[in-house]
Amino acid sequence: MLEGTGVPTSGQIDSVFPSDERLSKGPVAIIECYQNIPCNPCYTACNRNAIKKFEDINDLPEINHDNCNGCGLCIANCPGLAIMVVDAGYSEEEVLIKIPYEFIPLPEQGSIVKGLNREGQYICDVKVVKVINSKALDRTPIVSIAVPREYMKVVRNFGM
Ligand code: SF4
Ligand code: SF4
Repeated sequence: MLEGTGVPTSGQIDSVFPSDERLSKGPVAIIECYQNIPCNPCYTACNRNAIKKFEDINDLPEINHDNCNGCGLCIANCPGLAIMVVDAGYSEEEVLIKIPYEFIPLPEQGSIVKGLNREGQYICDVKVVKVINSKALDRTPIVSIAVPREYMKVVRNFGM
């Protein structure tokens, strides 16, 4: 599926998500990097040994979710926009998802935007909780959105 459409299957998405037990312990990175490419800034950005050392630059990243604290450093350093952080303990009804966002303008904190799935289809409205713009440091801005819990694995982006 990914090769033809660029969109991962639900099985591929499940394979990179942490266990429910790990999700319940707090923010954690999810790496959706499914193709072997010569790239490793996710590994070099992480100072918690959560991402296994690459033996070959073309390796797929392997994350130990138990070592990850969801700091998000890897999100801003990944050129493939392949990493998000999910905080499943955000509230009873919603999870907080931190995603890389490279479009202009950046959304306003507190605004309501359109939550989109991996195919760019509208799923539900989501609230922008935080915007971190480190473009001055040549890093990708990170936007935190509050997403209804049932769409945790579905919403992956947003539009305005
Ligand atoms: S979120 Fe932080 S701790 Fe987790 S893998 Fe990324 S850089 Fe490492
Ligand atoms: S930095 Fe991003 S694109 Fe590169 S290997 Fe890591 S997850 Fe994949």
